[in-house]
Amino acid sequence: MKCLSFGVVFVSLVLVACQASHAQRVPPVVVVPPDELSRDPSLTQPPAFQPSPTASQPQTADFASVPQATPGPTLPGRFSYNSCNVEGMYIAMTFDDGPNAQLTPKLLDMLKERGIKATFFVVGKNVEEYPDIVRRMAAEGHEVANHSWSHPALTKLGAEGFRKQIESTNDAIAKATGKRPVLMRPPYGATSAILNRRLSEQYGLKVILWSVDPLDWKYRNSNRVYSYITQNTQPGSIILTHDIHATTVAAMPATLDSLLAKGYKFATVSELIAMEVPPQLVKKEPSTTTTSVPPPQ
Ligand code: ZN
Repeated sequence: MKCLSFGVVFVSLVLVACQASHAQRVPPVVVVPPDELSRDPSLTQPPAFQPSPTASQPQTADFASVPQATPGPTLPGRFSYNSCNVEGMYIAMTFDDGPNAQLTPKLLDMLKERGIKATFFVVGKNVEEYPDIVRRMAAEGHEVANHSWSHPALTKLGAEGFRKQIESTNDAIAKATGKRPVLMRPPYGATSAILNRRLSEQYGLKVILWSVDPLDWKYRNSNRVYSYITQNTQPGSIILTHDIHATTVAAMPATLDSLLAKGYKFATVSELIAMEVPPQLVKKEPSTTTTSVPPPQ
């Protein structure tokens, strides 16, 4: 009897264990349909204010399925930037998605008046439509850079589509300015370590993201653009705005004047990168305390 009870208990235990182990082997699979992630690109959330150093946030289904290269010492050089470590009060203003027939010339006037150099990440088809504005950007010392031909998420393109977006825009910029771009900003900041590496190795393009994002495409409010930028900019910042929005361009005189008054100096993104120093060389607080007691936990 005792033996039988023991047998029943043992069998029950084995059954429970089997169920548990079966449950572990076959977890519920949650499949996110790609459509859910490939919603209207204009509503795609760009990376948060503090993007990761490689900005490789999975933003799309395709992106998530791309095997990630391991960033670090195995990758020679640096392929992407959110900001730069610089000595001094240097920052880079960047304007995306243009040129715009009305707004960009106004913005160029504002920059010229203040002796400010900026970087324009232009859309290739707009360059084709307004080559004179792009020529003026370059003639006035601004950097003109690639922002794709028609603003798709690069992570969703096949190899041929990707190549066309990059090469046709490089060609349009070179035709308008006489100079090939060396920087690329992927639309929506949608990129990956693999794409960054390909852009660098195949096209000589560094990937430029940002560290200050007033979300000017979302909040069409000049005061917000002004206050966000002036409150969040620090030395080495790369500031993201769009010269296709009237509210952004209207915010620029006050924003630029405020940054100048704080002592900031404007560089193009390539100039900012050229000023980069290793992080440990940026002035450090002198270490005055030593911890002799191990921290709790
Ligand atoms: Zn854009």
